[in-house]
Amino acid sequence: MQAPSEDRELEAGVVPGRLRFSPSLLAGSPEGLAEVSASLVGAVGSALRARWPEGPLRAGTPADVLATATRALSEPGIPAEGMGTQAALSRLARVLVEQGLHLSHPRAVAHLQPPPLSVAVAADALASASNASLDTYDSGPAAIAVERWLIDGLTRLAGFGARADGVLTPGGSLSNLLGLLLARDAAALRRGVDARRQGVAALSGPVVLCSELAHFSVHRACAALGLGEEAVLPVPTDARRRMRPEALAELLRGLGPERTPLAIVATAGTTDFGSIDPLPQLAELAAEHGVWLHVDAAYGFGALFSERLAGRLAGLERADSVTVDLHKLGWQPAAASVLLVSDAKAFRALDRQVAYLNPSDDSAEGYDGLLGRSLQTTRRPDAVKIAATLLAYGRRGLGEMVDRCHELARYAQQRISTEPELELVAPAELTTVVFRYRVGADPVFEDELNGALRRRLLETGTALIGRTAVRLAGPGSPERVCLKFTLLNPTSTPEDLDGLVDAVLEAGRACSPRIERGAA
Ligand SMILES: *Cc1c(COP(=O)(O)O)cnc(C)c1O
Repeated sequence: MQAPSEDRELEAGVVPGRLRFSPSLLAGSPEGLAEVSASLVGAVGSALRARWPEGPLRAGTPADVLATATRALSEPGIPAEGMGTQAALSRLARVLVEQGLHLSHPRAVAHLQPPPLSVAVAADALASASNASLDTYDSGPAAIAVERWLIDGLTRLAGFGARADGVLTPGGSLSNLLGLLLARDAAALRRGVDARRQGVAALSGPVVLCSELAHFSVHRACAALGLGEEAVLPVPTDARRRMRPEALAELLRGLGPERTPLAIVATAGTTDFGSIDPLPQLAELAAEHGVWLHVDAAYGFGALFSERLAGRLAGLERADSVTVDLHKLGWQPAAASVLLVSDAKAFRALDRQVAYLNPSDDSAEGYDGLLGRSLQTTRRPDAVKIAATLLAYGRRGLGEMVDRCHELARYAQQRISTEPELELVAPAELTTVVFRYRVGADPVFEDELNGALRRRLLETGTALIGRTAVRLAGPGSPERVCLKFTLLNPTSTPEDLDGLVDAVLEAGRACSPRIERGAA
C-alpha cells in the first residue's frame, strides 16, 4: 500500500523557508508595542480631530450609516494582500469614529453605557497584549493575582466577610445567570438532588421571585437553567418602583409544599429608574424562608463608591450573591462584570478537574487557576482595567464621579419639571430621569410622538436619548412610551443639559404637526 502523501513529506523532512517576520509583528515585543501604539495614537487622533462637533452621532438613517461604514471599510471580502498595520488601523479608526457613537459627547445619554475612562482603555490594551487567561495558573499567574486582589476589594466594599469570593463574567446578564445557577444548585443540594448530574427534573415546581421591574436577564437565566421562564414569580412594586416586601411575604407563604423557592432576586438600581428594592426587609424574608438572596446590583453597586449614596445599599451585605457591572456606574469599557458570593463554598457547583488544565497533583501543589469559578474556560483578564482605575482614582475619585452624575440627573429632573411640554415620570434615584413629551392629546398619539421625537434626534445626530415603557396610571394601566436620560458623563455641565432639554423640545415641536397630518 502506498503511504499517504503527508507521510512521505514527513519522511522527506521540512526546512522552514527564509521568510523572516519583523519582531514588531507581536504586541508582546517592545518594538510591536511601540509601533502599534504610535499608529493608534496617530490614527485615532486624526480621526477624533476631524470628528463633527455638533452631536453624539452622524446624521443619517440606519441604512445610510451602514452603507457608508461598509463602503469605507474595504471592498467586499477578505483582501488577498494586506494594506499594512498603519493603514488598517487608520481606516478602522475612521470608520468607528466617523460612523460610530461619540459617547463622551454630553448629549449621549441613551443607555447605561458610559464614556470609558482613558486609564481603563489603556489598561485594557495592556491586558490584551498580555493575552493572559484566568483558567489555569500556567495561563496567567499575574492576571490571577490581579483578579484575586480586585475580588477581595469588591467583597470588602460590599460588606461581605472573610469567606466571600467572586469571579468576573462577560456581563450582568451572565452574572445573573451564574448567581441563579449557584442558587439552583444550592437549593437542589439541600433537597438531596445533585442538579449538575441529574438536571432539574428532580426539583419540584422551582420558583424565582423578583420584582416586576427586574431585568429581563433574570427570565432568560431561568429559561437557560431549565427552570422555564414561568418559574419567575413577579412581585408588585410600590409608588417608588421598589419591590413590596409584604407582597413578597404573601407570595412566599402561599407557595405550598409542591413549589420550591430557589431564589429571591432583589434589584439594586432598576435599569430605567435606578430604584433600589428594600434590601434589609428582603434579606429578613430570605433568611426566614431559607431562600437564596441574589441582588442584581448591575447598575446600583457603583453607588457604594459615593459617601453620600452608599447608605442606599444597606442590607447588600446580607446577600448570598451580587451582580456588579462596572461597565455602567464604573466607567469601564465592557465587559467589566462581577459576580460576588458571600461564601466561596457556593462555587463548588462549578468545580471541575480536567487532565490538561488542572490535574489534582498540580492543584495540590498550588498550581491552580480559577477554572472552578466560571462556566468559561479561556477568560480575559478584565480585572486589569478595573484595577488600574481603582488604583488611579481610589474610592473617593469614583465616588465623586458618581455624585456628579447624580447631581446632573437631579438638575435635569428639575429642568424637566419646569417645562409645560414635559412630564416628569420618575425622579432621579441614581443617574437616570424618565419623562414624557406631552401636548395634551390622545395618549396613543403621544406615544407615537415620543417615539418619533427620539428617532428624529437620532437621525439628525443631535442627541442620543433613551426610551422605555411605563404604566403611568399605576398597576394594570397600559404602558406608555416614555423618554429617558441616563447621565454617566461626569464632565457634563448643567448648560449641556439645558441644551439637551432644548433639543428634545425642538424635536417634539418639529414632530407633532407631522404626526398630526399623518393621523388625519
Ligand atoms: C444592565 C443590566 C443587566 C444586564 O447587564 P449586561 O452587562 O448588559 O448583560 C442586568 N440587570 C440590570 C439591573 C441592569 O441594569
